[in-house]
Amino acid sequence: MDKKLVEKIKQLKRQRQAVILAHNYQPPDVQDVADFCGDSLGLSKNAAQTDAEVIVFCGVKFMAETAAILSPQKIVLLPDKFAGCPLANMINAEQLLALKQQYPDAIVVCYVNSSAEVKAHSDYCCTSSNAVDVVNSLPKDKQVIFVPDQHLGQFVKEKTGRNLVLWPGYCVTHMMITEEDIKNAKAKYPDAVVMAHPECSEPVKKLADYVLSTGQMLKCAAIGGANRFIIATETGIIHALKKQNPASEFIAASDRAVCPNMKKITLEKLLWSLENMQFRVVVPEQTRVKARLAIDKMMQILPVG
Ligand code: SF4
Repeated sequence: MDKKLVEKIKQLKRQRQAVILAHNYQPPDVQDVADFCGDSLGLSKNAAQTDAEVIVFCGVKFMAETAAILSPQKIVLLPDKFAGCPLANMINAEQLLALKQQYPDAIVVCYVNSSAEVKAHSDYCCTSSNAVDVVNSLPKDKQVIFVPDQHLGQFVKEKTGRNLVLWPGYCVTHMMITEEDIKNAKAKYPDAVVMAHPECSEPVKKLADYVLSTGQMLKCAAIGGANRFIIATETGIIHALKKQNPASEFIAASDRAVCPNMKKITLEKLLWSLENMQFRVVVPEQTRVKARLAIDKMMQILPVG
């Protein structure tokens, strides 16, 4: 790690009264310089609770938007303005409104990996760790639309027994992990515990011992009981897993599971972001208030885990 660069970042962070957030999929050196590492909603909640004036979100656009939704009085910066999420971009507000017209009485649940506009047109937001509980809390006689990830949606469908209307979105990075990858890793490390993210395909999830969000993976690895794990999600999480569990071994199910958008953030861009206060992410107030409602309704049902 470039110590001078890190020192400059820390110095500027103090001057700007900023807090640096890094998603679990960020490059290791970016995770190491952050004040908080974690998943998108957990990070936004951390940021809302600090008295920092500026939030630098090392992640992708929908994450910075979520921070802006929860902290309207703070300046939210995304170090690379092109860091977007292909999954979140697979549905826009017009497409969701058209779907709602087809199912006018349905309740809309949107995964946090969605734009602020899509959240604003949804009834509930959810994360990969609480999606099952959110859907389970809804009246049984109500049709539920679930957007945008079909694989998380399929997982929720199986766990709840509900007949959800799914949107055909998917995470390109998680699709890089194949059934073959898991079979090969299991053959090589037969004693390893397989943890897969719900955004993985159904055949991959069927081969896993546990289907977990990144936060749940970190908790599961810390519990003990196993010391070798095969990890089926974006490879950035392995840095956090190793850091927290130095005695355990973590093997990426596929080296191809690298999100190019998450990896757009570098230490240099983080420094420039603090120097030039770029790139500011603003959510129009009308959209923000409506999107906040969907997040608040989720939080009223259950805490974010
Ligand atoms: S890993 Fe997938 S869901 Fe996460 S930011 Fe990248 S494309 Fe989006």
